[in-house]
Amino acid sequence: MKAFDPYRILGISPEAKLEEIRRAFREKARQFHPDLGGKKELFLELKRSYEFLCERLSPSKLRILKERPQGGNYLLSFLDVTARELALGATVTVTVPAEERPCPYCKGRGHNPSGRKKTCLFCEGRGEIEFLGSQKHLKIVCPRCGGTGEILTDLCPHCRGRGEIAGERELSLKLPLGARPGDILYLPPQEEQEMDIYFELQVHPSGNLFFEGRKLLSRVVVPFWKFALGQSVEVETLEGWERIELPQEFQPGSLFRLPKRGPYQEDGTREDLLIRVEIIFPSDLPSKARKKLEEFAQIMEKEEEDAASGHRN
Ligand SMILES: [Zn+2]
Ligand SMILES: [Zn+2]
Repeated sequence: MKAFDPYRILGISPEAKLEEIRRAFREKARQFHPDLGGKKELFLELKRSYEFLCERLSPSKLRILKERPQGGNYLLSFLDVTARELALGATVTVTVPAEERPCPYCKGRGHNPSGRKKTCLFCEGRGEIEFLGSQKHLKIVCPRCGGTGEILTDLCPHCRGRGEIAGERELSLKLPLGARPGDILYLPPQEEQEMDIYFELQVHPSGNLFFEGRKLLSRVVVPFWKFALGQSVEVETLEGWERIELPQEFQPGSLFRLPKRGPYQEDGTREDLLIRVEIIFPSDLPSKARKKLEEFAQIMEKEEEDAASGHRN
């Protein structure tokens, strides 16, 4: 199984900057374009790779601060993201408080439209007021009840009579490259948002990927026999699952690295992805397997005894 590797597909190094990525795409696109006799699947893969990298390296409105803001008028909010989103500088949606807006339930009037009513005393329930006496017969809509002839007496349960509710706005934000758990992200005022917003990152594991401090790790769980027989392991990477051959000298408890496959750094290059292999010893082995394991233990004990007696002679 081969993971999605946009750099390999574009034939560039993981250090490549946007300009180089664009150039590589243009050149390869000419080669692979279906209109020019290229294979459609290859072209689509190329396009996907290009778009993936462009999104990674596109600018973010958010800036990384290493410490909390001090004083001033600002809003501090939380930004929940997964380890994968943070590592890849993904675009996430966040809800932030916005200005008050008229209550949609009472249309800003503050009264419960389906609550109790009483007759408007101003117009005596007619909804209009007549002015008599002048040459013209003048009628106007009752200013007290707005023409309904009734007055609502209960407060609107949604806005509690205020006629306004706190607004909320959804922002679609690209996470800046290089942000890590513990960082504060700063969003400067935008067109429709007048205040400074600071976000405290809350990073959740995604699958087997998680941050330990500022490092991204992928956890791999392998049963002891697979590990002892030197088989390869399935690893979850930022690009998906892939099969990886463990190095011969690898010992459980140590980490091994997938170079340049970890989270993006501020300059657009990538860190290493750290793989932590955990060996499990199932307690409920089938009896047949357990017998074999006992046989194995006997062979090893015999070997040790022989070696020890060999030393004595
Ligand atoms: Zn209301
Ligand atoms: Zn009235």
